[in-house]
Amino acid sequence: DRNDKPTTAESGYYFLQSPTVETARPHSNLQIPAKTQNDQPIDILKIRKDFPILSQKVNGKQLVYLDNGASSQKPQQVIDAIANYYKEINANVHRGVHTLSQLATDAFEAARAKIQQHINAKESYEVILTSGTTHSINIVANGFSNMLKVGDEILISALEHHSNIVPWQMLCERTGATLKVIPMNLDGELLMAEFDSLLNPNTKIVAVNHVSNALGTINPIRYIIAEAHKGGAAVLIDGAQSVAHIKPDMQELDCDFYTFSAHKICGPTGTGVLFGKEEWLNKLLPFQGGGEMIKEVTFEKTTYADLPYKFEAGTPNIAGVVGFGAAIDYLNEVGMDAIAQQEEEILKYATAELLKIPELKIWGTAQEKVSVISFNVGNLHPYDIGTILDNSGIAVRTGHHCAQPIMNFCKIPGTVRASFSFYNTIEEVDLLVKAILKAQKMLS
Ligand code: PLP
Repeated sequence: DRNDKPTTAESGYYFLQSPTVETARPHSNLQIPAKTQNDQPIDILKIRKDFPILSQKVNGKQLVYLDNGASSQKPQQVIDAIANYYKEINANVHRGVHTLSQLATDAFEAARAKIQQHINAKESYEVILTSGTTHSINIVANGFSNMLKVGDEILISALEHHSNIVPWQMLCERTGATLKVIPMNLDGELLMAEFDSLLNPNTKIVAVNHVSNALGTINPIRYIIAEAHKGGAAVLIDGAQSVAHIKPDMQELDCDFYTFSAHKICGPTGTGVLFGKEEWLNKLLPFQGGGEMIKEVTFEKTTYADLPYKFEAGTPNIAGVVGFGAAIDYLNEVGMDAIAQQEEEILKYATAELLKIPELKIWGTAQEKVSVISFNVGNLHPYDIGTILDNSGIAVRTGHHCAQPIMNFCKIPGTVRASFSFYNTIEEVDLLVKAILKAQKMLS
Protein backbone atom coordinates (compact mmCIF):
# COMPACT_ATOMS: atom_id res chain seq x y z
CA ASP A 1 0.00 0.00 0.00
CA ARG A 2 1.08 3.53 -0.67
CA ASN A 3 0.17 6.50 1.45
CA ASP A 4 1.54 9.44 -0.42
CA LYS A 5 0.02 11.37 -3.29
CA PRO A 6 1.23 10.65 -6.82
CA THR A 7 3.94 12.76 -8.27
CA THR A 8 3.29 14.38 -11.60
CA ALA A 9 6.16 12.31 -12.94
CA GLU A 10 7.29 13.24 -16.41
CA SER A 11 9.14 9.95 -16.56
CA GLY A 12 6.24 8.02 -18.08
CA TYR A 13 7.20 4.97 -20.04
CA TYR A 14 5.18 5.52 -23.17
CA PHE A 15 5.13 9.21 -23.47
CA LEU A 16 7.41 9.69 -26.37
CA GLN A 17 5.89 12.96 -27.50
CA SER A 18 4.70 15.62 -25.14
CA PRO A 19 1.01 16.25 -25.81
CA THR A 20 0.12 19.26 -27.88
CA VAL A 21 -1.77 21.79 -25.82
CA GLU A 22 -5.08 22.42 -27.54
CA THR A 23 -7.33 25.40 -27.40
CA ALA A 24 -10.45 24.07 -25.67
CA ARG A 25 -13.55 24.07 -27.77
CA PRO A 26 -16.25 26.20 -26.16
CA HIS A 27 -18.80 24.03 -24.38
CA SER A 28 -22.43 24.04 -25.27
CA ASN A 29 -21.56 25.92 -28.38
CA LEU A 30 -21.20 24.29 -31.73
CA GLN A 31 -19.63 27.36 -33.28
CA ILE A 32 -16.27 26.13 -34.41
CA PRO A 33 -13.64 28.74 -33.63
CA ALA A 34 -11.54 30.14 -36.45
CA LYS A 35 -8.56 27.98 -37.17
CA THR A 36 -6.05 27.89 -34.36
CA GLN A 37 -2.43 26.91 -34.70
CA ASN A 38 -3.35 23.34 -33.73
CA ASP A 39 -6.42 23.22 -35.85
CA GLN A 40 -5.15 21.59 -39.02
CA PRO A 41 -7.88 19.81 -40.95
CA ILE A 42 -7.85 16.07 -40.43
CA ASP A 43 -6.11 13.87 -42.98
CA ILE A 44 -8.75 11.18 -42.73
CA LEU A 45 -7.06 8.58 -44.88
CA LYS A 46 -3.88 8.86 -42.84
CA ILE A 47 -5.84 8.69 -39.60
CA ARG A 48 -7.84 5.65 -40.71
CA LYS A 49 -4.58 3.77 -41.25
CA ASP A 50 -3.95 4.11 -37.50
CA PHE A 51 -7.03 1.96 -36.78
CA PRO A 52 -6.38 -1.64 -37.87
CA ILE A 53 -10.01 -2.69 -37.38
CA LEU A 54 -11.31 -0.16 -39.90
CA SER A 55 -9.80 -2.07 -42.80
CA GLN A 56 -11.69 -5.24 -41.83
CA LYS A 57 -14.56 -6.80 -43.69
CA VAL A 58 -17.71 -7.73 -41.81
CA ASN A 59 -20.21 -10.06 -43.45
CA GLY A 60 -18.12 -9.84 -46.59
CA LYS A 61 -18.44 -6.05 -46.73
CA GLN A 62 -16.03 -3.29 -45.80
CA LEU A 63 -16.72 -2.38 -42.15
CA VAL A 64 -18.50 0.95 -41.67
CA TYR A 65 -18.29 1.55 -37.94
CA LEU A 66 -20.95 3.99 -36.76
CA ASP A 67 -21.35 2.82 -33.16
CA ASN A 68 -18.79 5.14 -31.64
CA GLY A 69 -21.18 6.31 -28.93
CA ALA A 70 -21.14 2.77 -27.53
CA SER A 71 -17.38 2.35 -27.86
CA SER A 72 -14.73 3.87 -30.09
CA GLN A 73 -12.13 1.98 -32.09
CA LYS A 74 -8.49 1.89 -30.97
CA PRO A 75 -5.50 3.22 -32.87
CA GLN A 76 -2.32 1.15 -33.19
CA GLN A 77 -0.60 3.58 -30.80
CA VAL A 78 -2.97 2.54 -27.98
CA ILE A 79 -2.76 -1.14 -28.85
CA ASP A 80 1.05 -0.90 -28.84
CA ALA A 81 1.15 0.92 -25.52
CA ILE A 82 -0.85 -1.89 -23.89
CA ALA A 83 1.14 -4.67 -25.59
CA ASN A 84 4.47 -3.02 -24.72
CA TYR A 85 3.41 -2.61 -21.12
CA TYR A 86 2.78 -6.36 -20.87
CA LYS A 87 5.89 -7.23 -22.88
CA GLU A 88 8.32 -5.00 -21.04
CA ILE A 89 7.31 -3.65 -17.64
CA ASN A 90 4.36 -5.65 -16.33
CA ALA A 91 4.30 -5.65 -12.50
CA ASN A 92 1.97 -4.49 -9.76
CA VAL A 93 2.02 -0.77 -8.98
CA HIS A 94 2.70 1.13 -5.76
CA ARG A 95 3.94 -1.96 -3.96
CA GLY A 96 7.42 -3.02 -4.87
CA VAL A 97 10.90 -1.62 -4.62
CA HIS A 98 11.94 -3.66 -7.63
CA THR A 99 12.58 -1.97 -10.96
CA LEU A 100 9.60 -3.29 -12.89
CA SER A 101 7.19 -2.28 -10.16
CA GLN A 102 8.65 1.21 -10.19
CA LEU A 103 8.46 1.44 -13.98
CA ALA A 104 4.86 0.24 -13.90
CA THR A 105 4.06 2.78 -11.18
CA ASP A 106 5.70 5.57 -13.19
CA ALA A 107 3.73 4.64 -16.32
CA PHE A 108 0.48 4.44 -14.32
CA GLU A 109 1.02 7.77 -12.57
CA ALA A 110 2.20 9.47 -15.75
CA ALA A 111 -1.10 8.47 -17.36
CA ARG A 112 -2.92 10.06 -14.43
CA ALA A 113 -0.90 13.24 -14.96
CA LYS A 114 -1.81 13.24 -18.66
CA ILE A 115 -5.49 12.93 -17.84
CA GLN A 116 -5.14 15.70 -15.27
CA GLN A 117 -3.56 17.95 -17.87
CA HIS A 118 -6.14 17.04 -20.52
CA ILE A 119 -9.09 17.98 -18.31
CA ASN A 120 -7.23 20.79 -16.54
CA ALA A 121 -7.82 19.44 -13.04
CA LYS A 122 -6.03 21.46 -10.41
CA GLU A 123 -4.39 18.47 -8.70
CA SER A 124 -3.45 15.00 -9.96
CA TYR A 125 -4.98 13.45 -6.83
CA GLU A 126 -8.37 14.83 -7.89
CA VAL A 127 -8.21 12.29 -10.76
CA ILE A 128 -9.45 8.95 -9.43
CA LEU A 129 -8.80 6.03 -11.78
CA THR A 130 -11.86 3.79 -11.96
CA SER A 131 -13.17 1.02 -14.19
CA GLY A 132 -15.36 3.50 -16.10
CA THR A 133 -18.20 6.00 -15.87
CA THR A 134 -20.58 3.59 -14.17
CA HIS A 135 -18.04 2.85 -11.45
CA SER A 136 -17.27 6.56 -11.05
CA ILE A 137 -20.92 7.56 -10.59
CA ASN A 138 -21.44 4.72 -8.12
CA ILE A 139 -18.44 5.91 -6.09
CA VAL A 140 -20.07 9.32 -5.72
CA ALA A 141 -23.59 8.04 -5.05
CA ASN A 142 -22.30 5.63 -2.44
CA GLY A 143 -20.06 8.31 -0.94
CA PHE A 144 -23.07 10.45 -0.07
CA SER A 145 -24.76 7.65 1.93
CA ASN A 146 -24.14 9.30 5.28
CA MET A 147 -24.70 12.88 4.10
CA LEU A 148 -28.38 12.75 3.04
CA LYS A 149 -31.61 12.46 5.00
CA VAL A 150 -35.37 12.38 4.46
CA GLY A 151 -36.42 15.65 2.82
CA ASP A 152 -33.20 16.07 0.84
CA GLU A 153 -33.48 16.02 -2.94
CA ILE A 154 -31.33 14.74 -5.80
CA LEU A 155 -31.97 16.34 -9.16
CA ILE A 156 -31.20 14.47 -12.38
CA SER A 157 -32.54 15.00 -15.90
CA ALA A 158 -34.89 13.23 -18.27
CA LEU A 159 -31.96 12.73 -20.64
CA GLU A 160 -29.87 10.48 -18.42
CA HIS A 161 -28.29 7.11 -19.19
CA HIS A 162 -29.35 4.41 -16.71
CA SER A 163 -25.88 4.78 -15.13
CA ASN A 164 -26.84 8.25 -13.98
CA ILE A 165 -30.29 7.21 -12.76
CA VAL A 166 -30.03 3.91 -10.93
CA PRO A 167 -27.17 4.77 -8.51
CA TRP A 168 -29.17 7.83 -7.36
CA GLN A 169 -32.33 5.74 -6.92
CA MET A 170 -30.30 3.34 -4.79
CA LEU A 171 -28.96 6.28 -2.76
CA CYS A 172 -32.53 7.52 -2.24
CA GLU A 173 -33.56 4.06 -1.01
CA ARG A 174 -30.70 4.06 1.49
CA THR A 175 -31.22 7.58 2.81
CA GLY A 176 -34.90 8.49 2.29
CA ALA A 177 -33.95 11.35 -0.05
CA THR A 178 -36.20 12.09 -3.06
CA LEU A 179 -35.25 11.90 -6.73
CA LYS A 180 -36.48 14.78 -8.93
CA VAL A 181 -36.18 15.00 -12.70
CA ILE A 182 -35.64 18.00 -15.01
CA PRO A 183 -38.09 17.37 -17.89
CA MET A 184 -37.24 17.51 -21.61
CA ASN A 185 -39.06 18.50 -24.79
CA LEU A 186 -39.48 16.53 -27.99
CA ASP A 187 -36.39 18.16 -29.51
CA GLY A 188 -34.40 16.47 -26.76
CA GLU A 189 -33.65 19.69 -24.86
CA LEU A 190 -33.98 20.15 -21.12
CA LEU A 191 -36.64 22.58 -19.93
CA MET A 192 -34.47 25.05 -18.12
CA ALA A 193 -37.35 27.05 -16.61
CA GLU A 194 -38.41 23.78 -14.95
CA PHE A 195 -34.85 23.29 -13.74
CA ASP A 196 -34.98 26.76 -12.14
CA SER A 197 -38.16 25.92 -10.31
CA LEU A 198 -37.05 22.44 -9.24
CA LEU A 199 -33.89 23.81 -7.58
CA ASN A 200 -34.55 24.59 -3.93
CA PRO A 201 -32.68 24.62 -0.62
CA ASN A 202 -33.33 20.87 -0.22
CA THR A 203 -31.47 20.08 -3.46
CA LYS A 204 -28.23 18.47 -2.32
CA ILE A 205 -26.97 16.89 -5.55
CA VAL A 206 -27.51 17.74 -9.22
CA ALA A 207 -26.37 15.01 -11.63
CA VAL A 208 -26.74 15.51 -15.39
CA ASN A 209 -24.94 14.40 -18.48
CA HIS A 210 -22.88 16.80 -20.53
CA VAL A 211 -24.07 15.11 -23.73
CA SER A 212 -27.01 12.72 -24.14
CA ASN A 213 -25.97 9.33 -25.48
CA ALA A 214 -29.38 8.62 -26.99
CA LEU A 215 -29.98 11.94 -28.75
CA GLY A 216 -26.66 13.77 -28.85
CA THR A 217 -27.94 16.91 -27.07
CA ILE A 218 -25.26 19.09 -25.47
CA ASN A 219 -26.75 20.23 -22.19
CA PRO A 220 -26.25 23.75 -20.79
CA ILE A 221 -24.04 22.49 -18.00
CA ARG A 222 -22.39 25.81 -17.23
CA TYR A 223 -25.74 27.30 -16.28
CA ILE A 224 -26.74 24.17 -14.36
CA ILE A 225 -23.48 24.17 -12.38
CA ALA A 226 -23.65 27.88 -11.56
CA GLU A 227 -27.30 27.79 -10.47
CA ALA A 228 -26.92 24.60 -8.42
CA HIS A 229 -23.93 26.07 -6.64
CA LYS A 230 -25.92 29.14 -5.57
CA GLY A 231 -27.92 26.84 -3.28
CA GLY A 232 -24.89 24.81 -2.20
CA ALA A 233 -25.74 21.60 -4.12
CA ALA A 234 -22.92 19.38 -5.36
CA VAL A 235 -22.87 18.92 -9.13
CA LEU A 236 -21.87 15.74 -10.96
CA ILE A 237 -21.47 15.89 -14.72
CA ASP A 238 -21.56 12.58 -16.59
CA GLY A 239 -19.08 13.22 -19.36
CA ALA A 240 -19.21 9.73 -20.91
CA GLN A 241 -20.48 11.05 -24.24
CA SER A 242 -18.86 14.47 -24.28
CA VAL A 243 -15.15 13.74 -23.93
CA ALA A 244 -14.89 12.27 -27.42
CA HIS A 245 -16.09 15.58 -28.87
CA ILE A 246 -15.33 18.31 -26.33
CA LYS A 247 -12.28 18.85 -24.15
CA PRO A 248 -13.66 19.60 -20.69
CA ASP A 249 -11.87 22.07 -18.42
CA MET A 250 -12.47 21.22 -14.77
CA GLN A 251 -11.27 24.52 -13.36
CA GLU A 252 -13.31 26.56 -15.79
CA LEU A 253 -16.47 24.43 -15.52
CA ASP A 254 -16.21 24.38 -11.74
CA CYS A 255 -18.27 21.17 -11.40
CA ASP A 256 -17.69 19.09 -8.29
CA PHE A 257 -17.47 15.74 -10.09
CA TYR A 258 -16.95 14.78 -13.74
CA THR A 259 -16.95 11.18 -14.95
CA PHE A 260 -15.92 9.44 -18.16
CA SER A 261 -14.66 6.15 -19.65
CA ALA A 262 -11.50 5.61 -21.68
CA HIS A 263 -13.16 3.27 -24.18
CA LYS A 264 -15.23 6.09 -25.68
CA ILE A 265 -12.11 8.09 -26.53
CA CYS A 266 -9.95 5.55 -28.33
CA GLY A 267 -8.74 4.00 -25.07
CA PRO A 268 -9.31 0.50 -23.71
CA THR A 269 -12.36 -0.83 -21.86
CA GLY A 270 -12.27 -1.29 -18.10
CA THR A 271 -10.77 2.04 -17.17
CA GLY A 272 -12.14 5.52 -16.61
CA VAL A 273 -12.06 8.61 -14.45
CA LEU A 274 -13.80 10.17 -11.55
CA PHE A 275 -12.67 13.76 -11.29
CA GLY A 276 -13.67 15.23 -7.94
CA LYS A 277 -12.80 18.45 -6.20
CA GLU A 278 -10.52 17.74 -3.29
CA GLU A 279 -12.93 19.07 -0.68
CA TRP A 280 -15.74 16.81 -1.92
CA LEU A 281 -13.60 13.71 -2.33
CA ASN A 282 -12.42 14.16 1.24
CA LYS A 283 -16.04 14.21 2.45
CA LEU A 284 -17.17 11.09 0.54
CA LEU A 285 -17.16 7.65 2.13
CA PRO A 286 -14.89 5.21 0.27
CA PHE A 287 -16.78 2.86 -2.02
CA GLN A 288 -14.71 -0.31 -1.77
CA GLY A 289 -12.43 -1.48 1.02
CA GLY A 290 -9.24 -3.45 0.47
CA GLY A 291 -5.58 -3.12 -0.35
CA GLU A 292 -4.17 0.21 -1.59
CA MET A 293 -6.91 2.33 -0.01
CA ILE A 294 -5.68 2.20 3.60
CA LYS A 295 -3.25 4.06 5.80
CA GLU A 296 -3.28 1.62 8.67
CA VAL A 297 -5.23 -1.56 9.38
CA THR A 298 -5.77 -3.21 12.73
CA PHE A 299 -8.63 -5.52 13.65
CA GLU A 300 -10.09 -2.69 15.72
CA LYS A 301 -9.92 0.11 13.19
CA THR A 302 -8.75 1.06 9.71
CA THR A 303 -7.73 4.51 8.58
CA TYR A 304 -8.00 5.40 4.92
CA ALA A 305 -5.30 6.48 2.51
CA ASP A 306 -5.12 10.00 1.17
CA LEU A 307 -6.50 10.91 -2.24
CA PRO A 308 -6.62 9.43 -4.79
CA TYR A 309 -5.91 6.01 -3.25
CA LYS A 310 -8.85 6.17 -0.83
CA PHE A 311 -11.01 5.36 -3.87
CA GLU A 312 -8.64 2.95 -5.64
CA ALA A 313 -8.91 -0.30 -3.68
CA GLY A 314 -7.25 -3.38 -5.14
CA THR A 315 -4.97 -3.86 -8.13
CA PRO A 316 -6.04 -1.40 -10.80
CA ASN A 317 -6.27 -1.97 -14.55
CA ILE A 318 -2.67 -0.91 -15.00
CA ALA A 319 -2.31 -1.80 -18.69
CA GLY A 320 -5.67 -0.16 -19.35
CA VAL A 321 -4.58 3.05 -17.65
CA VAL A 322 -1.35 3.08 -19.67
CA GLY A 323 -3.48 2.63 -22.81
CA PHE A 324 -5.75 5.45 -21.57
CA GLY A 325 -2.71 7.75 -21.41
CA ALA A 326 -1.74 6.75 -24.95
CA ALA A 327 -5.32 7.50 -26.12
CA ILE A 328 -5.14 11.00 -24.62
CA ASP A 329 -1.85 11.54 -26.46
CA TYR A 330 -3.45 10.34 -29.67
CA LEU A 331 -6.44 12.68 -29.39
CA ASN A 332 -4.16 15.61 -28.69
CA GLU A 333 -2.01 14.76 -31.68
CA VAL A 334 -5.06 14.76 -33.94
CA GLY A 335 -6.28 17.89 -32.14
CA MET A 336 -9.60 18.35 -30.40
CA ASP A 337 -10.45 21.41 -32.52
CA ALA A 338 -9.83 19.47 -35.69
CA ILE A 339 -11.91 16.58 -34.37
CA ALA A 340 -14.79 18.95 -33.57
CA GLN A 341 -14.61 20.47 -37.03
CA GLN A 342 -14.59 17.11 -38.81
CA GLU A 343 -17.50 15.80 -36.74
CA GLU A 344 -19.51 18.97 -37.26
CA GLU A 345 -19.18 18.54 -41.03
CA ILE A 346 -20.18 14.91 -40.93
CA LEU A 347 -23.14 15.68 -38.66
CA LYS A 348 -24.41 18.34 -41.06
CA TYR A 349 -23.97 16.14 -44.11
CA ALA A 350 -25.46 13.02 -42.51
CA THR A 351 -28.46 14.94 -41.15
CA ALA A 352 -29.23 16.42 -44.55
CA GLU A 353 -28.81 13.10 -46.40
CA LEU A 354 -30.78 11.03 -43.89
CA LEU A 355 -33.67 13.51 -43.97
CA LYS A 356 -34.01 12.83 -47.72
CA ILE A 357 -35.11 9.26 -46.90
CA PRO A 358 -38.92 9.07 -46.98
CA GLU A 359 -40.51 8.59 -43.54
CA LEU A 360 -37.20 8.87 -41.70
CA LYS A 361 -37.61 10.79 -38.43
CA ILE A 362 -34.65 12.06 -36.45
CA TRP A 363 -35.06 12.04 -32.67
CA GLY A 364 -32.91 14.69 -31.04
CA THR A 365 -32.99 17.97 -32.90
CA ALA A 366 -31.52 20.16 -30.20
CA GLN A 367 -29.81 23.37 -31.24
CA GLU A 368 -26.62 22.12 -29.69
CA LYS A 369 -25.70 18.55 -30.42
CA VAL A 370 -22.75 16.30 -31.21
CA SER A 371 -22.36 13.89 -34.13
CA VAL A 372 -25.00 11.41 -32.95
CA ILE A 373 -28.14 10.79 -35.03
CA SER A 374 -30.98 8.71 -33.59
CA PHE A 375 -33.75 7.89 -36.00
CA ASN A 376 -36.67 5.69 -36.96
CA VAL A 377 -37.92 4.87 -40.43
CA GLY A 378 -41.73 4.77 -40.56
CA ASN A 379 -42.95 1.90 -38.43
CA LEU A 380 -40.00 -0.34 -39.16
CA HIS A 381 -38.49 -1.91 -36.07
CA PRO A 382 -35.01 -0.55 -35.24
CA TYR A 383 -33.67 -4.11 -34.78
CA ASP A 384 -34.77 -5.09 -38.28
CA ILE A 385 -33.03 -2.08 -39.77
CA GLY A 386 -29.93 -2.71 -37.65
CA THR A 387 -29.77 -6.33 -38.81
CA ILE A 388 -29.98 -5.42 -42.47
CA LEU A 389 -27.36 -2.70 -42.01
CA ASP A 390 -25.11 -5.25 -40.33
CA ASN A 391 -25.45 -7.49 -43.38
CA SER A 392 -24.05 -4.56 -45.36
CA GLY A 393 -21.10 -4.27 -42.94
CA ILE A 394 -22.56 -1.20 -41.20
CA ALA A 395 -22.44 -1.18 -37.40
CA VAL A 396 -25.08 0.99 -35.71
CA ARG A 397 -26.77 0.69 -32.33
CA THR A 398 -30.43 -0.17 -32.04
CA GLY A 399 -32.76 -0.17 -29.04
CA HIS A 400 -33.25 2.07 -26.03
CA HIS A 401 -29.56 2.95 -25.60
CA CYS A 402 -29.77 2.48 -21.80
CA ALA A 403 -32.12 5.46 -21.71
CA GLN A 404 -35.56 3.90 -21.38
CA PRO A 405 -37.15 7.05 -19.89
CA ILE A 406 -36.30 8.97 -23.09
CA MET A 407 -37.91 6.26 -25.23
CA ASN A 408 -40.99 6.26 -22.97
CA PHE A 409 -41.22 10.04 -23.28
CA CYS A 410 -41.03 9.81 -27.08
CA LYS A 411 -43.45 6.82 -27.00
CA ILE A 412 -41.15 4.64 -29.09
CA PRO A 413 -39.57 1.26 -28.34
CA GLY A 414 -36.17 2.43 -29.48
CA THR A 415 -34.23 4.04 -32.28
CA VAL A 416 -31.43 3.30 -34.70
CA ARG A 417 -28.42 5.35 -33.62
CA ALA A 418 -25.54 6.27 -35.90
CA SER A 419 -22.77 7.89 -33.86
CA PHE A 420 -19.90 9.33 -35.86
CA SER A 421 -16.28 9.75 -34.93
CA PHE A 422 -13.53 11.84 -36.49
CA TYR A 423 -12.37 8.81 -38.49
CA ASN A 424 -15.70 8.42 -40.29
CA THR A 425 -16.05 9.67 -43.84
CA ILE A 426 -18.68 11.23 -46.06
CA GLU A 427 -18.53 8.05 -48.20
CA GLU A 428 -19.54 6.04 -45.14
CA VAL A 429 -22.58 8.29 -44.69
CA ASP A 430 -23.51 7.57 -48.31
CA LEU A 431 -23.20 3.83 -47.67
CA LEU A 432 -25.43 4.20 -44.61
CA VAL A 433 -28.11 6.02 -46.60
CA LYS A 434 -27.97 3.43 -49.37
CA ALA A 435 -28.30 0.56 -46.90
CA ILE A 436 -31.26 2.21 -45.11
CA LEU A 437 -33.05 2.61 -48.45
CA LYS A 438 -32.37 -1.05 -49.14
CA ALA A 439 -33.71 -2.03 -45.69
CA GLN A 440 -36.80 0.08 -46.25
CA LYS A 441 -37.46 -1.69 -49.54
CA MET A 442 -36.92 -5.14 -48.04
CA LEU A 443 -39.07 -4.55 -44.96
CA SER A 444 -41.99 -2.66 -46.50
N1 PLP B 1 -23.33 7.72 -19.22
C1 PLP B 1 -23.53 7.88 -20.53
C2 PLP B 1 -24.12 9.16 -21.03
C3 PLP B 1 -23.17 6.86 -21.41
O1 PLP B 1 -23.37 7.03 -22.73
C4 PLP B 1 -22.60 5.67 -20.91
C5 PLP B 1 -22.26 4.55 -21.81
O2 PLP B 1 -22.71 4.47 -22.92
C6 PLP B 1 -22.41 5.57 -19.53
C7 PLP B 1 -22.78 6.60 -18.72
C8 PLP B 1 -21.80 4.33 -18.93
O3 PLP B 1 -20.49 4.19 -19.36
P1 PLP B 1 -19.68 2.85 -19.06
O4 PLP B 1 -20.53 1.72 -19.57
O5 PLP B 1 -18.41 3.01 -19.81
O6 PLP B 1 -19.50 2.77 -17.58
